[in-house]
Amino acid sequence: MSQPIIEVKHVSKNFGTHQVLKDVDFNVNEGDVTCVIGASGSGKSTLLRCINLLERPSSGEILFHGRPITARGSNPCEYRSKVGMVFQSFNLFSNMTVLENCMAGTVKVLKKSREEARQTAVSFLEKVGMEQYIHAKPHQLSGGQKQRVAIARALAMQPEVLLFDEPTSALDPQMVGEVLNVMRQLAREGLTMIVVTHEMAFARDVSSHVVYMADGVICEEGTPKDIFENPRNEKTKEFLARFS
Ligand code: ADP
Ligand code: MG
Repeated sequence: MSQPIIEVKHVSKNFGTHQVLKDVDFNVNEGDVTCVIGASGSGKSTLLRCINLLERPSSGEILFHGRPITARGSNPCEYRSKVGMVFQSFNLFSNMTVLENCMAGTVKVLKKSREEARQTAVSFLEKVGMEQYIHAKPHQLSGGQKQRVAIARALAMQPEVLLFDEPTSALDPQMVGEVLNVMRQLAREGLTMIVVTHEMAFARDVSSHVVYMADGVICEEGTPKDIFENPRNEKTKEFLARFS
């Protein structure tokens, strides 16, 4: 068995006296689509933020290809180009066009020439069906379009892993599908993804692995079949019953 791409090892996180993550432990292998489900406040975003170096665990560690992500001498920007993140609120740069949004990181962090960055950006904007909007500003786009641009921007960095924090939760219902379709396509192409989501049909159909969190703890994890058809934990059963 090859080494996991990401290892979350006994990670705990406190904010003051509030323990938000408690001994969270799981691995992600190359090509896995890991869906993290759980009620609001259970620590899902904090977990992704730790994996993306936006927060530091209070204890435990996170390894990327076997090396601690906080190792001395490693560069957070370079790490984040390999382990990218897509946020619920898109976080596009509002003063830049769609194209500039998708070029900024590749020019600044990956040090590509503007021409190469432009070609990369356009190819990923084509992939998410947003190539006609390259000169638009974010405020001219719908929520679903903004999120597809945010995904193209993340892909332009050619990440090895992409983290998604409730990418469809801020969208009007009619726009959820266009974003999920892009994510489904990425999963089919073998991109390693960790997806926090309340879209249970997506988790059931697309993921290779499901992690159910409650109160900062991984209550149960397994294949989608294990979790959705044969949950063992009472909390998991109760949580899933809300969606049926
Ligand atoms: P989820 O994404 O599952 O809704 P979060 O990870 O956002 O959960 O939050 C888990 C808990 O941690 C919540 O009680 C939240 O209020 C708390 N929390 C998150 N971020 C911070 C922070 N920066 N400072 C203090 N408390 C926080
Ligand atoms: Mg959250």
